[in-house]
Amino acid sequence: RTILVGGGTGFVGTRLNKLLKVSNCNVINVSRMPAANNISWTAVESSGLPPGTSAVVNLAGQQFLDFTKSWTTGFKQNVFNSRVYTTRALATAINTTQNKPKVFVLVTGVGAYEPSETKKYDESSPTTGQDFFSKLLVDWEKAATIDPPVRLVIIRSGVVIGREGGMIKNMFLPFYFGLGGPIASGKQFLPWIHIEDLIRLIQFSIECEEVKGILNGVAPHIVTNAEFTKTFAKALSRPAIFPVPEFILNLLLNEERAMLLTKGQHVTPKRTLEYGFKYKYPKIEDACRECAHLLPNN
Ligand code: NDP
Repeated sequence: RTILVGGGTGFVGTRLNKLLKVSNCNVINVSRMPAANNISWTAVESSGLPPGTSAVVNLAGQQFLDFTKSWTTGFKQNVFNSRVYTTRALATAINTTQNKPKVFVLVTGVGAYEPSETKKYDESSPTTGQDFFSKLLVDWEKAATIDPPVRLVIIRSGVVIGREGGMIKNMFLPFYFGLGGPIASGKQFLPWIHIEDLIRLIQFSIECEEVKGILNGVAPHIVTNAEFTKTFAKALSRPAIFPVPEFILNLLLNEERAMLLTKGQHVTPKRTLEYGFKYKYPKIEDACRECAHLLPNN
């Protein structure tokens, strides 16, 4: 079985490659960089899917919280295009290929739901498209329009918890040196999923033929930023007493982008659980303990 993974070279993709390879799949990544298992986006646009592709996954996207990049119009365009154009390129390739794959799995985010400290969301909740991220989400998911009989699964992922990348990689050293603390009031919800569960959920979506539509890719244990901070610091046996004020983040990152850290959503994985997906890390304590080691695994 050949599985084509857009952005398969990144934080989530590298782990997904490993999981799929031990499950005897042939993985081809779509990447901007040439490498043995990679093909280019131009090749997808001009020649369609590689022969024998049975599933397509898209994980491509310019990191929102790349602290080295200012939140300029150009960077925002990059954030948008790297998600919407890659998703559209894969959807077009699927729609125009004669021998169709069985499934297209797109990983997006819980930014689809408007941040709130009181509202509760599951997969049936409406997406509002009010702020930059929820507007992006609408266009991103719309770009995945594919014709039946190919199944479409959209996983709206929470913050991915893993030692090798994303949020934990960014916060590891300050927390390790005892300089960590909650962000803003700490009351904002922090929807999260352990990386192992996200890649298992992608594999589950590929393999289970009844799975389709939106799945919230979040753990069932709902926590606030303050609860997460306390748990991660405890897993490292460190204090976490230095709060990061909201105005500093607004100043450093731009308010529009800082909301990824200062605001959150209460999101439950209702459909994910209804399909019978079993989490390996349903609790934040176990997820934090798993990534509380100093050296990354790879
Ligand atoms: P990464 O930041 O690791 O990026 C994934 C891949 O995207 C990269 O390896 C890169 O592939 C490709 N990419 C980056 N910038 C661009 C660009 N400007 N144009 C085209 N391709 C680009 O992402 P993750 O693995 O952390 O996340 C995967 C997906 O899941 C992303 O879409 C992300 O938005 C989403 N997500 C992630 C969360 C997280 O906490 N990590 C939370 C919620 C959603 P290459 O260099 O090979 O071209």
